[in-house]
Amino acid sequence: MSTVKRISILGSTGSIGKNTLDIVARNRGQLQVVSLASRSDVEGIVRQAREHKPKLVALFDEEAASDAENSLAGSGISVLSGTEGILEASTISEADTVVSAIVGAAGVMPTFAAVEAGKDVALANKEALVAAGSIITNEALRTGARILPIDSEHSAVFQAIMGQDAAGVQRVILTASGGPFFKKSQDFLDGVTPEMALDHPRWKMGPKVTVDSATMMNKGLEVIEAHWLFGVPVERIEVVVHPQSIIHSMVEFIDGSTLAQMGIADMRLPIAFALGYPDRMSLPFDPLDLTAGGKLEFFEPDLDFFPCLKLAYKALRRGGGFPAIMNAANEVAVEVFLNGQLPFTGIPQVVAHVMETAPEVQDRNLAEIMRGDNWARKAARDYIASSEENG
Ligand code: MG
Repeated sequence: MSTVKRISILGSTGSIGKNTLDIVARNRGQLQVVSLASRSDVEGIVRQAREHKPKLVALFDEEAASDAENSLAGSGISVLSGTEGILEASTISEADTVVSAIVGAAGVMPTFAAVEAGKDVALANKEALVAAGSIITNEALRTGARILPIDSEHSAVFQAIMGQDAAGVQRVILTASGGPFFKKSQDFLDGVTPEMALDHPRWKMGPKVTVDSATMMNKGLEVIEAHWLFGVPVERIEVVVHPQSIIHSMVEFIDGSTLAQMGIADMRLPIAFALGYPDRMSLPFDPLDLTAGGKLEFFEPDLDFFPCLKLAYKALRRGGGFPAIMNAANEVAVEVFLNGQLPFTGIPQVVAHVMETAPEVQDRNLAEIMRGDNWARKAARDYIASSEENG
C-alpha cells in the first residue's frame, strides 16, 4: 500500500472494534485512526484514544462522553456525544474508510451517513443492509462509496467474485457453523440458558451476534445482507452447515465451477482484507493447517429446528420494510432472552408473531424503515408481556 489509510471506527470498544485496532497496531505504517465511537464504554475508549491518538472520540451516552472528556483533557482529542457525535465520527472529513461495527439497528443511520459522505465502508454491522439494503446500496452507487464486507462469509464471497463479471454467478453458498446447538434435540432447545447460548464453538463475538448464531438468525441476516451486497436474488442464495468453519463461503459460477475461500476462524483476517483492499496485508497468524483438522463436513440446515433462518428468507421474499421489522423483533427478543425473561425457543415465536401481524411497510426512505422498526419493537414487547400474563 502506497498511502496511509485513515479510518474511523464506529463501535470501537466491541469485539470487531478491538480486533480492528489490533490490526491497526500491527500496521502503523498503513493504517491510522482518526475517530473512535462507542455507546458508553468510557474506560475502553479512553484507553484506545491514548494509544491510537485519534482526532475525535464520540460516545452516544452523554454522561459517558463527559467522563471521557475529563479523562482526555489536554490531549487535544475532541470528545462529542449523542447521535450527532456518532454521525460526526462517521463522516469526519479526514477519514477515507469507516469501519461500521455498531451492533444492531443503531448502526443503520451512521452507516448511511458514511455512505452518503462518500466514504468507503468496511461493514461489520449486519442490520444496515438488512433493514435498509435498498437505500444504502443506491446511495453508495450515487456517491461512489464502496461497501467492503467484514463479515467472514461476505468477505469470502467478495474474494471469490473479485475481478469477475457478476453475470457469471450462479449461486452464493453461505457456510454456517451451526452454532452450539447443531444436532441437538428440540427438548434440549427448550432448556437453553443465556450462558449456553453465549458459548459458541468456533467464533469469539459479542453477545447479540452469538445468540443470533445459536438461533441461526445470524445466517438469516447474512442471507439478506448477501442479497444486497452482491445483487444476487434470494432463490440463488443458499446456506450449508459446515461445523469446522474453515470454508467461510463459496460462489458457484454458471460453468459449474465453485470457488471457496478458506482460513482460520479469526475475524482479524476479513477485517484486514477490508482495510487493505485491494492489497493484502501481511498478518503474523498461524496459517491454516488442513491436515491437522482432519475432515471438512457439510450438512443441509434444518429449517424446522432453526425457524429463524426460514423467517429471514420469508422476510427477504416479502421485501420492502419486512426485513427491518423482522430484525427489530429479533433484537427485542434476544435482549429479553439475555435478561432471562424469555425462553430460547421464544425468540423465533416472537419474530414470527410480529411478522404475521405487521402492516405493509415500504423501504423508500430511512424514516419509513425506522417507523417499521419502532412498530415492530413495540409489537414484540407487547407480545412478550401478553404471553407472560397468559403463563
Ligand atoms: Mg458471519
